[in-house]
Amino acid sequence: MFWRSKRLWREPGSLKSSYDAVIIGGGLHGLATAYFLARHHGMTDIAVIEKNYIGFGGAGRNTAIVRANQRTQENLPLYKEALELWPVLTRELDFNLMFYNCGNLNLAHSDAAIKAMRLQVASAQYSGIDIKLVDPRECKELIPALDISDRPRYPVFGGMFHPPGGIVRHDAVVWGLARGASKCGVDIHQNTEVTGIAVSGGRVVGVDTGRGRIHTSRVLNSAGGYSAAISSGMLGIRLPISVLTIQAMVTQPLKPFLDHVVSSGMYHCYANQTLKGEVATGAHMDPWPNYTTQCTGHYIKHQAEALSELLPCLRGVKFMRHWAGLADMTPDMAPIMDGNDHIRGYYMNCGWGYFGFKSSTVAGKYMARFISTGECPDILKPFALNRFEQHRLMGETAALVSYSADN
Ligand SMILES: Cc1cc2nc3c(=O)[nH]c(=O)nc-3n(C[C@H](O)[C@H](O)[C@H](O)COP(=O)(O)OP(=O)(O)OC[C@H]3O[C@@H](n4cnc5c(N)ncnc54)[C@H](O)[C@@H]3O)c2cc1C
Repeated sequence: MFWRSKRLWREPGSLKSSYDAVIIGGGLHGLATAYFLARHHGMTDIAVIEKNYIGFGGAGRNTAIVRANQRTQENLPLYKEALELWPVLTRELDFNLMFYNCGNLNLAHSDAAIKAMRLQVASAQYSGIDIKLVDPRECKELIPALDISDRPRYPVFGGMFHPPGGIVRHDAVVWGLARGASKCGVDIHQNTEVTGIAVSGGRVVGVDTGRGRIHTSRVLNSAGGYSAAISSGMLGIRLPISVLTIQAMVTQPLKPFLDHVVSSGMYHCYANQTLKGEVATGAHMDPWPNYTTQCTGHYIKHQAEALSELLPCLRGVKFMRHWAGLADMTPDMAPIMDGNDHIRGYYMNCGWGYFGFKSSTVAGKYMARFISTGECPDILKPFALNRFEQHRLMGETAALVSYSADN
């Protein structure tokens, strides 16, 4: 049939009774890990188990912003490699991921924020990342629509400009990875929920699903907002993750006027103009843990106020769509990528909060190496779960001083 021949990935039909590895969650991290396991490590007997449809979680709800200007020496190399991977993967997958490196401008609205940015710029430059401090006049040159007068409640004091960052089409990443993994033999089972993880003799022996048990010795928990509930509910391993709702929206399409991603921590707002001309904007996160994906009127008001202060030409423009998703936040705003010494074969890749799109492919690349060899790659070692009990938290939250709103 015509529609079948057009499908991007194979629907495997029945669930096999065993796989070499099972990946929980058909989001960015699950699909990326499956792809790299199959394509780069020859592990093709893999099932991705997704309780809804692939891309249902943050993968299909994010605002598609990518950049490498993180704060700490542990995070910077990972995000730098992630940014460099988009054109490589576009070729490798033979799929247009629509990477547009239009550059990110993070605004500062106080002397304190400029000082914090100076430190962040120096750390990033030390890691070989292209970024510089810019003054208000240079901000205006980059974004002519920006109000740099002293009229806004928080005037622009300057910013940091990161030319190689930008946007990548998030749906294309999901579809491209699913197609690439499927071509290599990975089975993607949608509408299938993982309900339990079976353990015997200190190692993983299977995964229970709504469609029956799968025997496997390796399982990856990459269930995004549900990863902590899965870990504690199914294995008794508590993860220091709070789940918070994050919202985003787009305006009606407008003529091109915004060439870069612009964000402001003070206004709690970021924006970029999509290829369709809509302004995609977000940043607000509910301050209390919850699992709702409902939108709030409060957020519409907040976003309208912030955007019309920063970019006055947007006054009167209509919001067209508004959505919400879950952010799995750790206390240091860095992810957990780890195995487990007490339950061999159990791997975790979660706690990505609102940074997990930009880093998904590189995290998948290294998690695949970890799972296939059993050896944790050096680049992942700082992200071990025991950093929380050993008080080795990373300073990634410090970055918030200067760009909390830049997703
Ligand atoms: C509004 C919003 C804007 C964002 N903007 C950005 C941005 O601009 N840049 C950026 O880098 N990041 C951004 N993020 C964050 C990013 O989207 C997430 O960090 C990322 O999607 C996490 O990927 P993941 O694969 O871990 O989880 P997800 O993409 O959420 O995938 C997890 C999957 O697991 C499935 N699942 C859960 N439980 C089970 C189960 N029991 N059995 C089977 N399947 C299960 C879910 O259905 C889901 O599909 C944003 C997030 C939101 C919500």
